[in-house]
Amino acid sequence: MVASVLDGKACAAAVEEALKGRIEKCLDTGIVPHLAVVIVGDDPASHVYVGAKVRACQRLGIKSTHIELGGLTSEDELRTIIAELNNDSTIHGILIQSPLPIHMDEEALTDLIDPSKDVDGFHPVNLGRLVQSREDCLIPCTPNGVMRMLDWAGIQTKGKTALVIGRSRNVGMPQAILLASRGADATVTVAHSRTENMEQQCRQADIVVAAVGRPNMVKKSWIKDGAVVVDVGINRVDDINSPRGYILVGDVEKSANEVASWITPVPGGVGPMTVAMLMENTVSAAEKTI
Ligand code: NAP
Repeated sequence: MVASVLDGKACAAAVEEALKGRIEKCLDTGIVPHLAVVIVGDDPASHVYVGAKVRACQRLGIKSTHIELGGLTSEDELRTIIAELNNDSTIHGILIQSPLPIHMDEEALTDLIDPSKDVDGFHPVNLGRLVQSREDCLIPCTPNGVMRMLDWAGIQTKGKTALVIGRSRNVGMPQAILLASRGADATVTVAHSRTENMEQQCRQADIVVAAVGRPNMVKKSWIKDGAVVVDVGINRVDDINSPRGYILVGDVEKSANEVASWITPVPGGVGPMTVAMLMENTVSAAEKTI
């Protein structure tokens, strides 16, 4: 069997297309959806991600304000900027690009973002609402993008066993909650660095979502025949043959496509969906102000 490609680029394009009408309606009422993206320091990967987010805003007619701060910026300065963005009624979404420099407390800073502008969905109010399955929450973009992609491809989750590898607050944990929630109805196991018998856990799963950050950690031999594999991981691996000197690989061996029924490519799988869901959250936040 060769797995079908779970094409995040195509799904993201469909999400963007569907957003256009909603954005027009906002504009008709005088509201210009507006995302503020704050980046601190010079992490090259973060700058690539921010660039993709700003370009998506440009494609869709969402206004973006891009704030770049030096790596030595103090936490107090960033607190002041967050307060200003919270108080600016023309801004609907605030995104603080992760990771922040180590002298900053990322969680404490996330807590300062107005939950109605928290388009990353990481504020405790939004994560709490997610646990309660409330409709008035902004859902973290990456796990929400995974759910949207599964739905778009017609992949059933109801009654299936799902293994989420990784338990971060931005991907693994919300992913597990979404897969287990009413409507999705999967039976979910969450694995992490202390999990024993990872291979066995994996071999039992109808759906595997890998969000670890370790290149090719999940082996082809761990994947059950016909399983759905979603590879969230984006890892830079040195490659002298590549013009950039590195290539991007996922957390799952590429050859897993020989046993899976569906698999996301890296790049071009979950990444574009994360950006599309950010656009959707920004539009949703703007609509709430109408
Ligand atoms: P993270 O916060 O570092 O979390 C990684 C998780 O993996 C942790 O829960 C950790 O377990 C677990 N882990 C580490 N080593 C493990 C092992 N040997 N076996 C099993 N579990 C292990 O990372 P993240 O933010 O969730 O991101 C994960 C990956 O997804 C990264 O490659 C990141 O770049 C990528 N990502 C991609 C997108 C996208 O749009 N495609 C978006 C976000 C993230 P412990 O909790 O026990 O430490």
